[in-house]
Amino acid sequence: MSQLRLRFAPSPTGYLHVGGARTALYNWLTARRHAGTFILRIEDTDADRSQPELTTAILESLQWLGLDWDEGPYYQSQRLELYRARAQELERSGHAYPCFCSPEELRVKRERAEVEHRAWKYDGTCRNLSPAEQSRRRAEGRPAALRFRVPDSGRTAFEDLVFGSIELANSEIEDFVLLRSDGQPTYHLSVVADDLDLRVSHVVRGADHLSNTPKQILMYRALGAPEPIFAHLPLILGPDKQRLSKRHGATSVGAYREQGILPEALTNFLALLGWTPPSGKEILSREEMVAQFDLKAVSRSNAVFDPEKLTWMNSEYLRHLPLEKLLPRVEAQLHAEGLWNPAFSQAERERFEDSVRLLQTRARTLKDFSHSGRAFFTEDFSFDPEARAKFWKEPHLADWLSELARRLRSLSPFDLEGTEKCLRALAEEKGVRAGVLINAARVALTGQAVAPGLFDVMVTLGQDRVAQRLERAAAFQRQSQSAGS
Ligand code: GLU
Repeated sequence: MSQLRLRFAPSPTGYLHVGGARTALYNWLTARRHAGTFILRIEDTDADRSQPELTTAILESLQWLGLDWDEGPYYQSQRLELYRARAQELERSGHAYPCFCSPEELRVKRERAEVEHRAWKYDGTCRNLSPAEQSRRRAEGRPAALRFRVPDSGRTAFEDLVFGSIELANSEIEDFVLLRSDGQPTYHLSVVADDLDLRVSHVVRGADHLSNTPKQILMYRALGAPEPIFAHLPLILGPDKQRLSKRHGATSVGAYREQGILPEALTNFLALLGWTPPSGKEILSREEMVAQFDLKAVSRSNAVFDPEKLTWMNSEYLRHLPLEKLLPRVEAQLHAEGLWNPAFSQAERERFEDSVRLLQTRARTLKDFSHSGRAFFTEDFSFDPEARAKFWKEPHLADWLSELARRLRSLSPFDLEGTEKCLRALAEEKGVRAGVLINAARVALTGQAVAPGLFDVMVTLGQDRVAQRLERAAAFQRQSQSAGS
């Protein structure tokens, strides 16, 4: 097989959406699997809707996902000459013609068709103007768009790698515009001109483009150029089976990054939106995905985006990430939340690592480290009111916590076994279930009702901190009791 060349061609009119990211990923996986080339092209010819900041954001999201490109980014706004040259080529060979119909005339005809419940398609008013008439109108300075001359009869057929045989009667395709009267290329013109110029072998894009493909194929044929192989990817729906949109919550890659989703987890999750690996395994390393991915195995049924599954997958990735890889990410997360102290001593650094190791097994996102896990990284945390209401009900609790603090302060060695024995002995003396003290102490030490095992927490936080926090909780409890009485 000759060298594969694939491209991802986002329009910078929005952030990188998860659907776009999946398209980029499938292109990338195919290129990597076959040692091909992955090209990035920014489709920014629509000057009104394209924004340079969005291009930057899209590039950043792709980089964050690890989807590195081999060529580009090419910017369509810098390649207008190429498109105009292709348009001229089509006009010279009779496959395109100038259309002098004004937007106003076209609007009136379209509206009339609507009222009469007829499907509107350009009626060919300018299709058969004589060359003399065309020149006359041009000489008058009348603005003209350039339209593609769709054959009157016949059918346009192609084999889509995902959707199979697709066929459309040419009579159903209108003479579409290639160049607007202001000389701006349309999407169809620029995309075909570019895919030819960049020698793209496979066009992999969303199924929303499926209806554009027959038009583009007609253009390749008119240009006497070989057409690429097409693969259209199934739509992505929300859990309610409606097309995924903002209504469903976060849809941009950047938003998931902010939520503390790992790029490895997101790409793995996106890979499964339309593709089932032959191994049937859901968690796949990048290498496994590259080795197994096959466009022909992509399903044509719509894929459902299940945020719960993404969170589950993310927690799996977090759990299995080697500590040395996790530490810098948690560090960045704490940094972003103003919880990072760059002047850590060696002992504090070790405590940071122990805390990350302890939280790693139950974290669902990186945010969990700085939110529910906040107390592991700062003294500036509060006691969750719900946790207090549930676990700080005993009238003598403040005294018990103080007593526990006193005993733990002089415990030696301060280890798992010792801390547990100490707490259980106190519970027995006070005639209370150990669970009551355990739950109360957990809220005192972490601010939360749910946290890793209490004695692990104690050992990780260290003797002084544990004693201080138990005292702080006791004081808090006394104060709220006196305020309440
Ligand atoms: N720029 C188009 C889009 O963002 C992609 C066009 C294509 O892949 O052919 O939908």
